[in-house]
Amino acid sequence: MLNFNTEQLQQHTTPFYIYDLNLLHQTLETAQQEAQKYNFHVHYALKANANTPVLNLVRQHGFGADCVSGNEVKAAIENGFAPKEVVFAGVGKSDAEINFALDQEIFCFNCESKHELQVINELAEKKDKIARVALRINPNVNANTHKYITTGLEENKFGINAWELESVLELLQELKHIELIGVHFHIGSQITDLTVFKNLCTRVNEFQEWFLAHNVTLQHINVGGGLGVDYYHPDENLIPDFAAYFGLFDQFLTLQPGQQVHFELGRALVAQCGTLISRVLYIKNGVSTNFAILDAGMTELIRPALYQSYHKIENLTSKKKEVRYDVVGPICESSDCFGKAVMLPETNRGDLIAIRTAGAYGEVMASAYNLRDKAAAVYV
Ligand SMILES: *Cc1c(COP(=O)(O)O)cnc(C)c1O
Repeated sequence: MLNFNTEQLQQHTTPFYIYDLNLLHQTLETAQQEAQKYNFHVHYALKANANTPVLNLVRQHGFGADCVSGNEVKAAIENGFAPKEVVFAGVGKSDAEINFALDQEIFCFNCESKHELQVINELAEKKDKIARVALRINPNVNANTHKYITTGLEENKFGINAWELESVLELLQELKHIELIGVHFHIGSQITDLTVFKNLCTRVNEFQEWFLAHNVTLQHINVGGGLGVDYYHPDENLIPDFAAYFGLFDQFLTLQPGQQVHFELGRALVAQCGTLISRVLYIKNGVSTNFAILDAGMTELIRPALYQSYHKIENLTSKKKEVRYDVVGPICESSDCFGKAVMLPETNRGDLIAIRTAGAYGEVMASAYNLRDKAAAVYV
């Protein structure tokens, strides 16, 4: 159950996000303990949640930062992450973003195309700098997750495909302002079947063989993020099974002497610590179920509308007999629906509703659509 009482929640204007920093601390500590068993290095993916209290706690636990925009690089550094701990991925890095990252002397650009390599080389040359680069390779491994959060298939826009690697190595010979330090993979998000990561390890080992055969030694192997969380049973699984996750990479990755393994976790670290709290505005009769109309909508949490994803919904006020509801928001879109045919205690206007597991890809994706006010963040 949630770690805060209803009286506490009554004090705030709904909708709002509430973050359990104690749970976040426990999650971060567990992840670090398990990663450090194998000397793995974990970067936190800022795009999951970039709130300052969250970033501070993440940094204090010794994580690096994984960024996908210039502003994320900036946010990481402003919140105390050392530039040497910052990696920067993304298929469409602008010149201004690359220049900023070069000026900050970040640890590594995760490079997603030949064209991008050329541009980074050019911009680094103008600054008389050498850019450290890892090639983001598309390993063509199916993440078995929603198609919108699958990134490691050849049909996806991300990464460099295997058949291009030969020509990439040729190109790198000419690019004097690029230092190749490693390879990078990130195959998708909300991956709950660990055999997917085992398949990734197999592919990484094959790529390693290929690079060795081409006399290229790689210092850094970055296997990205993507570990999923339990949206259906948040209370039973508040902290993901980091032991199994890191243990699997230790078991199945074949490393060369001195190689450092990097991870980029977002969701697994922050999803469960966040909850969206909302109030019921109206109950309205529908054809087969009634609608519970909330004051929170897709503007506060777009995941159900965007990926048809499930979030557990709880009525914190009512203890009555359960009834079926379509739980919807106030936004003028039919996709603004948090859940269809959800069983909830008989619900009334004014009841507080918790939408669980909203700490990752919730507040960061908020929009002002319908000119909505920005919902507050509360920390306990
Ligand atoms: C989004 C992203 C991550 C984090 O993914 P999670 O599923 O939240 O762990 C890691 N690396 C890259 C390159 C990403 O784009």
